[in-house]
Amino acid sequence: MSLPSPVIAAQRAVVIDDSASAVALMLQLLETIEGCQPVGFTDSAQALSWCLNNDLDLLIVDYEMPPPNGLSIIEAFRDDKSKAAIPVVMVTSTEDVDVRYMALQIGATDFLSKPIDHVEFAARMRNLLASYRASKTLAEVSLWLTDEVRKTSMVIRQSPTSVVITDRSGIIEYVNPKFTETTGYRPDEAIGKRPSILESGDASPEMHQELWDTITSGNEWRGTFQNRRKDGTLVWEQALISPIRDSSGAITNFVAITEDITLHREYEARLEWQANYDSLTGLPNRMLVLDRLGQAMALANRNNGQIAVMLVDLDRFKAVNDTMGHDAGDEVLRQVAKRLLIEQRQADTVARVGNDEFVMVLSDASESHSPQAVAARICERLEAPFIIGGDEIFISASIGIAIFPGNGVTAQDLLRSATAAIPSADAEGRGGWRFFTPELDASARRRLAIEANLRHALAQGEFQVYYHPLVDVPSGRILAAEALLRWTSSELGPVMPDHFIPIAEETGLIVSIGAWVIETVCRDMAQWAKQGLPPVRVAINVSSRQLADRALLDVVGNALGAHGVAAGLLELEVTERLLLDQSPHTLTLLGDLKGMGLRFSIDDFGTGYSSMSYLTSFPFDVLKIDRSFISKVTEHSQDKALTQAIIAMAHSLDLEIVAEGVETAEQLAFLRANGCEFAQGYLFTRPIPVDAFAKLLKDGVQYAFAARA
Ligand code: C2E
Ligand code: MG
Ligand code: MG
Repeated sequence: MSLPSPVIAAQRAVVIDDSASAVALMLQLLETIEGCQPVGFTDSAQALSWCLNNDLDLLIVDYEMPPPNGLSIIEAFRDDKSKAAIPVVMVTSTEDVDVRYMALQIGATDFLSKPIDHVEFAARMRNLLASYRASKTLAEVSLWLTDEVRKTSMVIRQSPTSVVITDRSGIIEYVNPKFTETTGYRPDEAIGKRPSILESGDASPEMHQELWDTITSGNEWRGTFQNRRKDGTLVWEQALISPIRDSSGAITNFVAITEDITLHREYEARLEWQANYDSLTGLPNRMLVLDRLGQAMALANRNNGQIAVMLVDLDRFKAVNDTMGHDAGDEVLRQVAKRLLIEQRQADTVARVGNDEFVMVLSDASESHSPQAVAARICERLEAPFIIGGDEIFISASIGIAIFPGNGVTAQDLLRSATAAIPSADAEGRGGWRFFTPELDASARRRLAIEANLRHALAQGEFQVYYHPLVDVPSGRILAAEALLRWTSSELGPVMPDHFIPIAEETGLIVSIGAWVIETVCRDMAQWAKQGLPPVRVAINVSSRQLADRALLDVVGNALGAHGVAAGLLELEVTERLLLDQSPHTLTLLGDLKGMGLRFSIDDFGTGYSSMSYLTSFPFDVLKIDRSFISKVTEHSQDKALTQAIIAMAHSLDLEIVAEGVETAEQLAFLRANGCEFAQGYLFTRPIPVDAFAKLLKDGVQYAFAARA
C-alpha cells in the first residue's frame, strides 16, 4: 500500500440561514475561496437532514431561526461522531454570552457576528477550510501508518523465518514465534539476553567480530552458522542481519532474520557423503582416497616426507560370496574394514576401492610406522577367522606396496604401482605383501626379519660382548679395550652391529640391550680382577636413546656396585651426532655420570658433523679418530695433514687420542711419529670373545712391532 496522495478534492461549505439574502451573500463570499463549493439552505429542517446524509467540510449556521434553531442543528450534527472534526461556525447577532457559551459546549468551532464583515468572513472561512483539509490529510496518513505497522507486525509474527530484534548494543528486544519454535526459547527467556545464548561454539571469534564490525558500520551481514537450541541440539541457520536506522540515519537496532537450514544441510551432507564414501563399510571410496593421496603427496614434496600406498586385495573372497551368499560377503567386508582401521594412524586413510580391494595410505611412512610392518600385521589380522552367523570363514590378503617418491608421479600412478606389486597367487602361495621396487622389497624383508628376531634375542641369550684391544702405542701393551656387541640370531645367523644397532635404536630395544652390555662388561671386569689380571679400562658404546633416560644412572651405578668395579675403569663412547642434537637433559645426565667418576670418549670423530665447539661443550677424556681417516693416512697427504691437525688440536684440549681401524704397520708408524697415545685395529687383532681377551691379558702380550722405533 502506498502513501495516500494529498487531498485536493473540492471542499463543500454549507450555509443555513432563514434569511435568503443572508444566504446569498455568504454563498457569494464563499465562492471567492479557491476549491470551495458552497451550498445554501433557508429551511433549517431540510438543511439538517441534508447535512446528516452528505459529506461536507464546513458548516455555517444562523442562530435565530424557526426550529430547529442553530443550537439544535449543531447538537444534532455533532451527535454523528464521524463529523466531529468538521468545523462549525455560528453566525449570530445576539450579544448574549450564554448563547455563545452554550454553542461552544455543544461543539461550535467559531462565531461570527451579524452583520457580516465581508473581508473577515472570507478570510476566516478560508483558514477554517485549509486547517480542516490539513487535519484530514494527517488523519488519513496516520490511519495508513497504523495500518501499515499492524500489517508489518503481522507479517513478522507469522513469518516462517525467525526474527530477532536487538538494541544497538546487541541486547534482544523482540523475538517472533518462529524463533521460539526453532530455538525453544520463549520471548521472556530471550528478551534482555544476547543472541550468544544460542552459540554452539562452532563459529570462530573472528567470525563474530567480523559480523559485529559489519553491522555496526551500517552494512548487512549474511552467513550461516550452527546454533544450539535450548534443549542442546544443534541447528544450522542462514542469517541476514541488518541495522535499523532512525529518521536521522543513526543506527537504533539490529534485526536478524534467520532460517533453519538444518534439513537442507543434512541433505547436502548426505549427498556429499554418498559421493565420497562406500555405503557398505563407511570407508572413503576410490575418489576420496585419490584426493587425499594427492594432498599427502603435495605435503610430502614440501617436507621431504615419504608415503606408502598399500593395495589390499582379499584372496578367496569370491568363494565366500559364491558359497555363503552376498549377505555373508557383505559382513566379511565390514569386518575387514574394521580390522584395517586398527592400523590406521591419524593422517592415514583406509578406503574401499573395489569389490574386495582396499587401500591404505600411510602419509608418513617412517621407520616407526613402516609399510612392511603394517602390511605384515594386516596379513596376520586378515588370516584370523571371520565369524559369520556362527560359521568360521577364512580369507587372507595380498598386499602390494608403492612408495612415494619413487613409484609414481600422480596418485593414480601410485595406486597402479601398488596394484602391480600385489604378489601373484602362484608365487609362494597366496597372501603376503610385496614392494613395487625389488630392492626395497628385499631390504624391507631383511629389516622386518631383524626386527622380529631382535625382540627376543636378549631373552634367548643370543648376544655376546667381544673385546677389541686398545694398544698403548709407545709400549705395545694392552691397556684398554672397547666392548663390541655381537649377535648370533638362531634364525638369521650372525648379524653385524651396523645392521641391527640402528633397528635396536629405532625400536627402543637398545635401552635394555645396552643395559645388558653394561652389566656384562662389569661382570667380565670383576672376573679378570678375580683372576689377578692387571686392570684394563673398558669403553662401552652408548646411543642417544640410552642417554635420553635417566634410568641409565641406576643401570651404571648398579653394575659397578654389584661387581665392585672402579668407576674410573669404565668409559662411555658417544658419537658426535649425539652432541649435535644435545638436549639439556642429556648434558645433565652426562654430567651426573661424569660426577660418578666415569670417563667419556667422543667416537667416530671426523665423520661429518665435527665441530670444535662440540668438543668443548662437554669435558671429554678421549677422542677417537675415525677409521676412514686412519685407513688413508699413508696414501693421501690430505688425510695425513688432517689427522696431524686433529691430534694437535686434541692434545691442546688435553684429550687422549685413540686411532681406530689401524690395519698396517705404516699407519702405526705414522701415528707413533705424531704422538698418538692408543691404537685399535685389525693390525693387532680382531674383536675377540671374553676368554680370548682374558688370555691376551694373562699372557701380558706386548706387540713388539708397535714398540719398535
Ligand atoms: P664403533 O664404536 O666405531 O666401533 C668400532 C668398529 O670398528 C667396530 O665394528 C670394530 O670391529 C671396527 N674396527 C676396529 N678396528 C678395525 C679395523 O682395523 N678394520 C676394520 N675394518 N674395522 C675395525 P663393529 O663391532 O662392527 O661395530 C660397529 C658399530 O656398532 C660400532 O662402531 C658402534 O657404533 C656400534 N656398536 C657396537 N657395539 C655396540 C654396543 O654395545 N652399543 C651400541 N650402542 N653400539 C654398539
Ligand atoms: Mg665405539
Ligand atoms: Mg668408532
